[in-house]
Parts: sequence; structure tokens; C-alpha cells
Amino acid sequence: MSDCLFCKIVRGDIPAKIAWSDDRVVAFHDINPQAPVHLLVIPKKHIASVSAIAPEDEALVGHVVRVAGDLAREFGIEAGGYRTVLNTGAEAGQTVFHLHLHLVGGRPMGWPPFPA
Ligand code: 5GP
Ligand code: ZN
Repeated sequence: MSDCLFCKIVRGDIPAKIAWSDDRVVAFHDINPQAPVHLLVIPKKHIASVSAIAPEDEALVGHVVRVAGDLAREFGIEAGGYRTVLNTGAEAGQTVFHLHLHLVGGRPMGWPPFPA
């Protein structure tokens, strides 16, 4: 999608600190990190949100999650624990409408994650 921020990062039109890239997925450091490690793992294909995942996207979305697990190991947050977050829609705080998995770790995190 031409006017999508994360599609621009996929194309290299906007710079990002890339942590992983393969034929289907890109992971990059969040510009406003909420923890010592805060990566965004995205499909290169434009999918607007969890609500827009089609049956044929299942393997791709599974790959996004598996890459997140690999990156957690690579970035040293596997042992301590980490959070994987998919915000969907305005009330959940989704601001970029290209599916992205937040991989967050390196500090203790509270639960529930949604204070009133
Ligand atoms: P959301 O709120 O949609 O779940 O997450 C969007 C995330 O994208 C936010 O954590 C925000 O900091 C990050 N973000 C927004 N614009 C940019 C950008 O231009 N570059 C990078 N690396 N991250 C961005
Ligand atoms: Zn996009």
C-alpha cells in the first residue's frame, strides 16, 4: 500500500533499524521503545490488522510469531520472559494499520496491561 508507513519501511522508503529480514517478514526497532528490547515484527505483505488476516495468510502470520521467538532468543530476553502484543483497532491503541507484533522485553512488566 503506497501510503502505509510500514509498507514504506518494507520498501526502504523510510529508514528503520532492521533486526531481521527475510522473504516474508521484517523486524525493526520501535522508534519509541517501551523497554530495553522493543521490536516490531511485520509481514512484508500489507495486512491491516488481526481482523484482516485471511485464511491464506495463516502460514505468514505463523512465521511472524516464530521469527519473534527467534529474535527474543537473539536479543537475550528469552530467559527473563517477554511479551508479544498485537493491538487491534483504535481502542486497543493501534495507530499503524499494518499488522505488527510488538516484541517487548528486558524489564519486568505488570499484568493486566490495560490500566483503566
Ligand atoms: P501500535 O500503537 O499501532 O500498536 O504500534 C505502532 C508502533 O509503531 C508504536 O509503538 C510506534 O512507536 C511505532 N512507530 C510509529 N512510527 C514509527 C516509525 O516511523 N518507525 C519505527 N521504527 N516505529 C514507528
Ligand atoms: Zn502496509
